[in-house]
Amino acid sequence: MGKPTGFMDYVREDAKAYSVNERIKNFDEFHEPLTKKEQEQQGARCMECGVPFCQAGMKIGSAFSGCPLNNLIPEWNDLIFKGNWEQAYNRLRITNNFPEFTSRVCPALCEKACTCGALGDAVTVRANEYGIIENAYEEGYAVARVPKVRTGKKIAVIGSGPSGLAAADQLNQRGHSVTVFERNDRVGGLLMYGIPNMKLEKDIIERKISIMEEEGVEFETCVNVGKDITATDLLKNYDRVILACGASNPRDIKVPGREANGIYFAVDFLKSTTKSLLDTDLKDGTYISAKGKNVMVIGGGDTGNDCVGTSIRHGAKSVLQLEMMPKLPDKRTSDNPWPQWPMVCKTDYGQEEAIEVYGHDPRVYQTTVKEFKADENGNLIGATLVKLKPVKDEKTGRLIMKEVKDSEYNVDVELVLIAAGFLGSESYVTEAFGVDVNARTNVATAEGSHKTNVENVFVTGDMHRGQSLVVWAIREGRDAAKEVDESLMGYTNL
Ligand SMILES: Cc1cc2nc3c(=O)[nH]c(=O)nc-3n(C[C@H](O)[C@H](O)[C@H](O)COP(=O)(O)OP(=O)(O)OC[C@H]3O[C@@H](n4cnc5c(N)ncnc54)[C@H](O)[C@@H]3O)c2cc1C
Ligand code: SF4
Repeated sequence: MGKPTGFMDYVREDAKAYSVNERIKNFDEFHEPLTKKEQEQQGARCMECGVPFCQAGMKIGSAFSGCPLNNLIPEWNDLIFKGNWEQAYNRLRITNNFPEFTSRVCPALCEKACTCGALGDAVTVRANEYGIIENAYEEGYAVARVPKVRTGKKIAVIGSGPSGLAAADQLNQRGHSVTVFERNDRVGGLLMYGIPNMKLEKDIIERKISIMEEEGVEFETCVNVGKDITATDLLKNYDRVILACGASNPRDIKVPGREANGIYFAVDFLKSTTKSLLDTDLKDGTYISAKGKNVMVIGGGDTGNDCVGTSIRHGAKSVLQLEMMPKLPDKRTSDNPWPQWPMVCKTDYGQEEAIEVYGHDPRVYQTTVKEFKADENGNLIGATLVKLKPVKDEKTGRLIMKEVKDSEYNVDVELVLIAAGFLGSESYVTEAFGVDVNARTNVATAEGSHKTNVENVFVTGDMHRGQSLVVWAIREGRDAAKEVDESLMGYTNL
């Protein structure tokens, strides 16, 4: 432990966000990273606990707590405190293929389980991770590592999200020849066409992809497996196939008026903005625009928040965000102690921006939509909303949300963005390969395995786990790679 009193000597300092007025002018990332010296001081705050929950990645209570990748957090915190940034990078890349992604978009499960955070402010683990990886690029040691030996085995990965990329990276480093197939025109899955540019600038993805290409991974974009190329052909030409297609089937809101023009799924809205931004700096006008419109986002989660932030950057007239469930408490309750994942109300960047731009929190809780209204041309002009209250279901004993009688009210709205979650995998891929799916339409495997019922076909990421997080997608990809390697070589050192 470098500085035994570091956690008392220094206060937590995180990367500063630019002011709302400044950042909503564009779609750029909006945090000013700490200097190397400042970050070293933040590294000194780590207590190097005997039992570091931050890196545990285990279920405590009803949710996971600590880093799912088991990143060696206390080790690299200490290394950066001592100024040994290169060794910190070497330790970080043992467990995390893509710290450049997680250090930008991860909800930092580590920090919620940090011992410093039990009574005070957690160590800035995510910012330290950011410092390590960005410094590695700046100093020139985050470079391609071309495998010296090739095994002659060929692997097809279907889908280029973080899970497919992690599996591809691991297996390529092991010496297998990996081709990643992606139906979109750009690689990255939801990193590219889901998470907005202001959270993760897309040249960060491209920077890593060019390194992976140099290392030997091949990428085939605009190839829709199951449509442009058959499962039979892939299984004939490759020793193993890994399905990493995500859980892209969105949950719909099936109420009267749903067919009105102006109602979109969140990911279609977010993708159209990013694609237009990357293709033409938004000049082609092909994106779904919120400019001058009253926008209603259905879903109070992270995807909904991204829709709020994006709508504000388009210049929306107003933004309303509906959440069916009651508001969570502002602080941990006594039955949700540290180091459990905190079940508290989080005000994210989009909501912060809405508060400043429109003068109020865009979220309304315990509310859902009952009907959409269109004009004579079929264009959306409004919606009827209804309040909800939690009641105990007599059969199951669980709390369900029930309509409050006579609580309906109308709102003007010209653009609706549905961010109500995802139902699982798309059937044309699972049917093409003949893999079994479970009740949630995630691809079924034995507990703890990534092997499907079809010989030589494996599954990883959201397609296996259901809609989750980037850090879990990487974990899944690494675990699937290990199983694939073992099945090919009879043992694995991954
Ligand atoms: C709007 C939004 C914001 C999010 N923000 C965050 C965040 O801030 N932090 C966080 O940790 N998580 C976030 N998530 C969740 C996270 O992005 C996902 O959990 C993660 O990307 C899943 O990775 P994956 O590799 O399993 O699948 P995906 O990222 O979904 O990638 C699957 C890829 O497979 C491709 N594909 C599908 N079928 C085929 C086919 N037949 N042929 C070829 N290619 C195919 C798809 O085009 C896609 O590119 C967000 C999700 C959304 C929707
Ligand atoms: S990947 Fe996420 S949980 Fe793990 S150390 Fe980084 S920020 Fe923390």
